[in-house]
Amino acid sequence: QEVTLKVDRLKKYFPVGKGLELKAVDDVSFDIYKGETFGLVGESGCGKSTTGRTIMGLYDATDGEVLYNGENIHTMKEREQFRLKRNMQMIFQDPYASLNPRSTVKEIISEPMEVHKLYATEAEKLDRVYELLEEVGLNRDHANRYPHEFSGGQRQRIGIARALALDPEIIIADEPISALDVSVQAQVVNLLQQLQEEKGLTYLFIAHDLSMVQHISDRIGVMYLGHMVELTDSEELYNNPLHPYTRALLSAIPIPDPDVEDEREQIVIEGEIPSPIHPPSGCVFRTRCPMAMDACAKHTPVWQEIGTGHYVACHLYNDEIGDADEKPSTSG
Ligand code: SF4
Ligand code: MG
Repeated sequence: QEVTLKVDRLKKYFPVGKGLELKAVDDVSFDIYKGETFGLVGESGCGKSTTGRTIMGLYDATDGEVLYNGENIHTMKEREQFRLKRNMQMIFQDPYASLNPRSTVKEIISEPMEVHKLYATEAEKLDRVYELLEEVGLNRDHANRYPHEFSGGQRQRIGIARALALDPEIIIADEPISALDVSVQAQVVNLLQQLQEEKGLTYLFIAHDLSMVQHISDRIGVMYLGHMVELTDSEELYNNPLHPYTRALLSAIPIPDPDVEDEREQIVIEGEIPSPIHPPSGCVFRTRCPMAMDACAKHTPVWQEIGTGHYVACHLYNDEIGDADEKPSTSG
């Protein structure tokens, strides 16, 4: 499979004063394949949005690399970065906040085209706006209206039309349905899937809830406190979760059929998510992990491939560490 985005040991730290740093993204690696939907999941504050924004080039990386078709997006020349921005677009959580209330829909959607000087005439540009409105399930009558005249779902459609205006290859969707009514969520997801099929788009779909990405993602990465803890096919993640955090997230999703008895082990994660300014030593999940052992405070778990394409960072799957620390003592 063709890798379109390669995120390699990415770190994004924010200085917070007194020489301290907030480690929003700490050594995260994953590939995104051309044409797939990659779901990135974790609680709020886990670094998933920062990962998305750093991939977009909205933030510089503290360390590590993001390669787009083999080119490092943070070291490329400004001209190239400008070109690249056409190919990578973002959709945001809050369609209310991300659309300028004083601009008409036409102005909102055509703004990126103007920045990139795509159309020579107003008529050409307007045709493209109409085309985009139809592609997202709106119509040309909407072009001269303002964002406040639309429902939440319609506003997200406007945001999607704006993201499509430059005919991108990749769309980074940061919680695109979280702010919408449940009844509207499925419609927006269906639209995104239909557009992906028609245009061969690649999605990075960010969500705080595993149930939101489970059905639409080809593969899923689970983040916790700035770290990627598990990554695999969405079906494999559902059937064979390895990391204790993933297991806890999955056990929180109700089984849809009320006639099926839910015999899964319910795992409740106790305690608060620690501060990313003072993350726990060793495994960052250890303060809330029901499986934590001595080794977990001493050693940072290695990111390793357990089965084909199934990655996890947890000492439970590391024989060497498990053996060294958990072997019963033979002396005394
Ligand atoms: Fe739990 Fe230890 Fe695995 Fe971390 S490394 S998830 S603390 S068992
Ligand atoms: Mg966020």
